[in-house]
Amino acid sequence: MNDSQYQLEALSTARLAAVRSRIAAAERAYGRPAGTVELLAVSKTQPVEAIAAALKAGQRDFGESYLQEAQLKLTALAAENLTWHFTGALQSNKTLWIAQHFSWVHGVDRLKIAERLSAQRPAELPALNVCLQVKLGDEPRKAGIEPALVADLAHAVAALPRLCLRGLMTLPPESDDVATQRAYFRALREALQSLREQGLALDTLSMGMSRDLEAAIAEGATLVRVGTALFGARPRKT
Ligand SMILES: *Cc1c(COP(=O)(O)O)cnc(C)c1O
Repeated sequence: MNDSQYQLEALSTARLAAVRSRIAAAERAYGRPAGTVELLAVSKTQPVEAIAAALKAGQRDFGESYLQEAQLKLTALAAENLTWHFTGALQSNKTLWIAQHFSWVHGVDRLKIAERLSAQRPAELPALNVCLQVKLGDEPRKAGIEPALVADLAHAVAALPRLCLRGLMTLPPESDDVATQRAYFRALREALQSLREQGLALDTLSMGMSRDLEAAIAEGATLVRVGTALFGARPRKT
């Protein structure tokens, strides 16, 4: 092993430990049982070596957002048996490869995409885990379904044979104010609660990132999606 590989692994181990201790501290602070918040390492734009280093440090769930890049990385790491989550924007022409290679999709916001993913999910794989992306702020260009329309979409997606609807995901407007962060995350928790009361068996609140994972855990996140705090600043996408 050369020096730079060694340094990358040491850095990766330290960052992973730091994020895991932030999660554990938030679980304690907000009365969440230990180990109830999963960590998804969002490795988009990071090199395969960075993923390999995090894997050595014990991380097994990784998120990718750009299909071409994901194809290279998933292929390079195929022997490792990792759990891959697609966290990017979904377009119709991307669904086939995603349905064939990912275990989770976090950003479903329309029925047409869900129907394609279900139809294209290979029979020999378990159902594809899906979260619906909800748009909580007033951001016209951001992906996500309006809260008022979530219930109809959730019931339709839950009926698709090759998908397993797990819960809701959000990427709220950026804010450094904890009360504002928590208000968005609370709205997602309440939306999930309302779907459960309508009979849907959902267990996942995918919310919180490097900046705001504590606020998300305070409001009930079951999975935080962390990039920068684990891998450093993202290289510019080329
Ligand atoms: C990039 C990304 C993240 C990670 O964000 P950080 O601020 O780097 O932790 C989480 N979720 C989604 C959907 C992303 O695209």
